[in-house]
Amino acid sequence: MLDVSDEVRAEIGDEEAERLLGGENAPDVYDCTSCRTPGHTGQVPTSTVLFVGEETAVLAFAHASCIPSQVVPVAEAQLQGAVASITAEGGEGTAVRREMPLQAELGVTSGLVLVGGEVQPALVVEPLGPIARPGTSGPVDVFLELLHEQGFAPVADVEQAPAALPGWSVLLAMGRLHAVLQPPAGGTAPQAWWQAHQAMQVADGWRAAVNKTRRVLVYCAPAGTIGSQPREDLLREALDRAAAAGRLVGAAMPLAGT
Ligand SMILES: [Zn+2]
Repeated sequence: MLDVSDEVRAEIGDEEAERLLGGENAPDVYDCTSCRTPGHTGQVPTSTVLFVGEETAVLAFAHASCIPSQVVPVAEAQLQGAVASITAEGGEGTAVRREMPLQAELGVTSGLVLVGGEVQPALVVEPLGPIARPGTSGPVDVFLELLHEQGFAPVADVEQAPAALPGWSVLLAMGRLHAVLQPPAGGTAPQAWWQAHQAMQVADGWRAAVNKTRRVLVYCAPAGTIGSQPREDLLREALDRAAAAGRLVGAAMPLAGT
């Protein structure tokens, strides 16, 4: 039940792709590189995810429901760290997630959330690991603190839509999600605060809702708070729990260019 996308196939070659699809080189059980929970290649649809540095590539696995099969460019140094840790642990691919630069990467999920009786298009942003203050190595997770400093407000009750955050916007193009933009640091052009490796497909309903509201509610929570939720009612429940625990901040953002 393995998916090898064309872009992954192009990187690893047809022969390796066929070996994977034949089950020869794929592990039975893996830890999903996106949500970090276990998966089974024989039981659930699984995506191959290839992390590519300048010289090295590491193949990892993810639930197809979490992320599609794709190529993720990363810095070579970080990839080398991941390769070393895999070798040391004797594992196969599964160690990738722990040492990968994805620790500093953000998982972004789109969903419709019922807020004040109205269906609102939302993005839920959750880092894949603790976020240290820039220039330090942690280990304290300061993700929410950093967002407070940038103007995101604590969300105590999901029933109340968060306030607009001036200068921030969400970039959608051709019906796909490309980036969350923040105000320019020095120049005049907005900068990407988060950018999709590959333009992210959003559901038709989400796109329709955003076309109507022209704004997106962006919620952020520290790593391990929301997780990957299979349904929007469960997403809402997870947001409620995060809000109650004081682990949710949010902001309303217009579409870029509007
Ligand atoms: Zn997963």
